[in-house]
Amino acid sequence: MRPEILNPLFAEVEVLKGVGPGIAKALARLGLTRAVDLAYHLPTGTIDRLRVPAAAGTMLSRILILDVTPFDSRSPAGKGPTRIFAVDRDGNTITLTFFNNPGWAKKQLPLGEQRTVSGKLEAFGDEWQIIHPEILEGGAEPPLSEAIYPLTEGIANRRMRELALTALQRAPELPEWIEPSLLQRDGWRPWRMALAEAHVDPLATDVRKRLAYDEIFANQLALMLIRQHARRRKGVPLAGDERLTSALQLPYQLTSAQARVAQEIRSDMAQAAPMLRLLQGDVGSGKTLVALLAMLEAVEAGAQAAFLAPTEILARQHFATLQRQLDALGVRVAILTGRDKGRAREAVLMGLADGSIDILVGTHAIFQEKVAYKRLGLVVIDEQHRFGVSQRLLLTEKAAHPPHLLVMTATPIPRTLTLTQFGEMDVSRLDEMPPGRTPVETRVISDEKLPEVVDALGRHIAAGGQAYWVCPLVEESEKSDSAAAEQRAAVLRLRFGPDKVGLVHGRMKGVEKDDVMASFAAGHLAVLIATTVIEVGVDVPNSTLMIIEDAERFGLAQLHQLRGRVGRGAGASTCLLIRGQQLSETGRARLALMRETNDGFRIAEEDLRLRGPGEILGTRQSGEQQFRVATPEQVSELVPMATDDARLLLDRDGGLASERGQAARIALYLFERDQAIDLIRSG
Ligand code: ADP
Ligand code: MG
Repeated sequence: MRPEILNPLFAEVEVLKGVGPGIAKALARLGLTRAVDLAYHLPTGTIDRLRVPAAAGTMLSRILILDVTPFDSRSPAGKGPTRIFAVDRDGNTITLTFFNNPGWAKKQLPLGEQRTVSGKLEAFGDEWQIIHPEILEGGAEPPLSEAIYPLTEGIANRRMRELALTALQRAPELPEWIEPSLLQRDGWRPWRMALAEAHVDPLATDVRKRLAYDEIFANQLALMLIRQHARRRKGVPLAGDERLTSALQLPYQLTSAQARVAQEIRSDMAQAAPMLRLLQGDVGSGKTLVALLAMLEAVEAGAQAAFLAPTEILARQHFATLQRQLDALGVRVAILTGRDKGRAREAVLMGLADGSIDILVGTHAIFQEKVAYKRLGLVVIDEQHRFGVSQRLLLTEKAAHPPHLLVMTATPIPRTLTLTQFGEMDVSRLDEMPPGRTPVETRVISDEKLPEVVDALGRHIAAGGQAYWVCPLVEESEKSDSAAAEQRAAVLRLRFGPDKVGLVHGRMKGVEKDDVMASFAAGHLAVLIATTVIEVGVDVPNSTLMIIEDAERFGLAQLHQLRGRVGRGAGASTCLLIRGQQLSETGRARLALMRETNDGFRIAEEDLRLRGPGEILGTRQSGEQQFRVATPEQVSELVPMATDDARLLLDRDGGLASERGQAARIALYLFERDQAIDLIRSG
């Protein structure tokens, strides 16, 4: 239960004075549904106005407030703006330009009558003009400095500010949750004062810093509570006897990184406290094998394992590989996805319940209510960065004996993000590639040269090679996205023959996609055209050419992932990044970085800098928004401090019972880390 003191802040915006259904709807477009959202809807800058008796050349491109008297006007018959000519007190002519609503403008600015207007003074040829000036009535002049808010249609800046300030009035004084010495050192104001100040002076960096620190601290504290809780739960220790792992036939040796991580996992699983481990490893570093060893370990110990893949295609691919490897060992593997229905599904559910299935591979379907395991001991989540903490927790929370959890991601996650995003987990890194890989050569090519790229592709497949061709995701429109890929497929089929070119995209049915993928993997198809559905995990070593269209529209981490699809065999691989002709400076720099380095971590740091954490972690899609105000820079700067601070507090006061502990609880509610709070209450 939320502490009463916060209730006014968490009221719906409709309770605020002057907010009806219309305004509420507009606010909702910005995600502002409760008073607290508005109170935290901070201005991003200010505009400064100059109150002057008359215009002057030195004031160009400033926003002025001045008195003018219109003396003439012109409204062209066809298109074109209405222009009202006016003089200021010094006799300068200023043109007031209106692109719409000429009738209104003329009524507001009658000839011969002085009016006060405000707007940006611009040079237009040798005239001065103000486009769409604000016409101020009855001496109501705007403030000389005004905070500027992010807006949406139907709510003007001044209205937004009023609303934010009204919401702010509902903010109570709250007890201090920040460590006193820290507060003193940085001279931070109390929370309420800081929040109010942020609306007055958008550029006050120390104020912003405190507000950012608040939520980062709450986030870190929440993760630690989740961790603390998870550690205390009684899981089942799983110790294998190497019966299966040693019988596994591998055509190669484990890399030393794989061996090290496998050992880390083994000792985690031998504990009663359930494992919570994040395995980071660049594409191709061999995570699947590590997961397989862990699953076999669980099976040796008499438990079941579940392997969650992010897509249907990948689930099927993993299933096929596992079946091939495990049949001989007598380990029973099954698959369950949303597509499996009827009797096949019933059979799998029964096998899970009676324990005749050892390993289940699948998509989200494997965690549905109806899926009951006899003895689930280990959950592996592959490419899991699309989930948030809460989803992760839910996976293991239901079980009476929570299973061990291994989360694998190929997105190299910068350290600060690991802390804010996976702070409740232990981290292993596969920092070594299997031997025999030749680094992928990356080239950036202008789309003018597309015909030459197609020629090169022709030579590549004539020599027996295979290739991926990635078409970009068209924003917000799955339809045109598929259309672009379909068009490309049509063109390439014309050139290379219809049976050489396969196509997969998001709108295809699962079975259809699988058929195409399977036929590409078997070498029947030479070219696989795809939207980003192949982004993760697909493994076809003979495919050594990756062509990515409109490469500048992808995130760097995403390009890195895609590029990781090639370079999996011993042969040399190439990645061609096709770019548009209108490329910004940053666009150019980003693609150059891809050409320069294969280092996933370096690419991830750069992506974080350029695009923010939501994009890297895919939390934008999952809707789990982490912070209200903290910027990526602030997160990088403040996370280490906040993490230490939170840890120290929990060391001293694990139940959050002290005065400061109570204050910290309020912070958890204020920043909606509800899960963590539920944990304190239940234990
Ligand atoms: P990812 O980490 O991207 O999931 P995979 O597990 O798919 O990587 O492994 C990539 C490829 O490397 C696979 O073809 C796999 O069989 C191979 N591989 C894994 N471990 C080794 C190893 N120790 N030596 C050689 N090849 C390996
Ligand atoms: Mg993988």
